Amino acid sequence: MADSDLSNADLSSADLIDADILIIGAGPAGLFASYYAGMRGLDVVLVDSLDHLGGQVAALYPEKFIYDVAGFPAVRGRDLIAGLVEQAASADPRILLGEECSTLEDQPDGTLIAATTAGTRIHCGAVLITGGIGRFTPRPLPAVDAYTGGGIHRAVGPAEEYAEHDVVIVGGGDSAVDWANMLAETARSVTIVHRRARFTAHESSVARLRESSARVIMEAELVELLGDPAVEQVIVKGAKQDFLETIPASVVVPALGHIAALGPISGWGLRVEARQIEVGTDMSTGRPRVFAAGDITDYPGKVRLMAVGFGEAATAVNNIAVLLRPGEDVFPGHSSELPRAVGAGIGV
Ligand SMILES: Cc1cc2nc3c(=O)[nH]c(=O)nc-3n(C[C@H](O)[C@H](O)[C@H](O)COP(=O)(O)OP(=O)(O)OC[C@H]3O[C@@H](n4cnc5c(N)ncnc54)[C@H](O)[C@@H]3O)c2cc1C
Repeated sequence: MADSDLSNADLSSADLIDADILIIGAGPAGLFASYYAGMRGLDVVLVDSLDHLGGQVAALYPEKFIYDVAGFPAVRGRDLIAGLVEQAASADPRILLGEECSTLEDQPDGTLIAATTAGTRIHCGAVLITGGIGRFTPRPLPAVDAYTGGGIHRAVGPAEEYAEHDVVIVGGGDSAVDWANMLAETARSVTIVHRRARFTAHESSVARLRESSARVIMEAELVELLGDPAVEQVIVKGAKQDFLETIPASVVVPALGHIAALGPISGWGLRVEARQIEVGTDMSTGRPRVFAAGDITDYPGKVRLMAVGFGEAATAVNNIAVLLRPGEDVFPGHSSELPRAVGAGIGV
């Protein structure tokens, strides 16, 4: 992903960074909010606990097509994120990746200081939480977690990159089955290992898998990875029947899903219910100067889609702009009529 030009690794120190707005979470909502804040002339710091931009889309389904983003009849996940990253770049945000926002303190003048797990402190006029489903980490798979060599792909890249590979996918949900279907057409071999007797993936995907060239091993577990410096074989053990089999594998894809947790944000005095933050129509949370947008928000009638998150991000940022600069209008004007459209400087 083209995020290297945005990362400010030199700021990942114990320095106190000043910003108008701190955006917590660099998924679709956070990236669009960054762009929008730039459009309103606000100085942005964008933080994510993952080591890359793009939230769930980049981490969980970069190769899937998305059909319900306005203006795109169909857009691949990674292409959508690349567009959002390019758009966000025009705001010149300072980006801190691999850092989780852990504390938030009110200052006597009403401003806020947030701190990350890496020790970075951000002094800001307002906070926008776009933390999605929270910090998410892959569900553990002991054999993979114990293995220190290469060849582990937490997400699958473009299919053509697997032409020379024997791929073993572990899991039985949508990601596992979709990836098996996708790679069955291009990889040298694909084996899917699932410890249960039934897949939980969509029925039509399972039917397609059964007709594909992928080998399916049900009621079995991956118990060991062999090879140094990269995986060459895996050992699969029957969960019920007692069998052990060694399978060639140059790529192993653990696709057991993720564990999501709101983490420290739940202790910030916000109205939190079932990992979601209750917000008002202006996206305010009830705690002064703290707003939220995207999957993490809740209100009657909430629909958890990116299209909705983009709108919430714009609403939140426009209300923050007025909060920080009283007298300004919450309506930003039409971007098409701005004298200098944001985007100038990045070749659009
Ligand atoms: C398989 C799959 C398919 C989907 N298909 C579609 C679709 O077709 N259309 C659609 O509209 N939606 C779809 N979705 C849902 C869509 O991906 C989400 O609605 C969207 O990602 C939400 O964006 P977000 O920015 O609110 O949150 P996220 O994408 O979850 O991003 C939040 C980010 O915040 C970070 N974060 C959380 N807490 C902290 C913290 N304390 N400090 C620092 N960082 C933090 C996380 O690491 C994460 O990167 C799909 C989801 C999945 C799993």
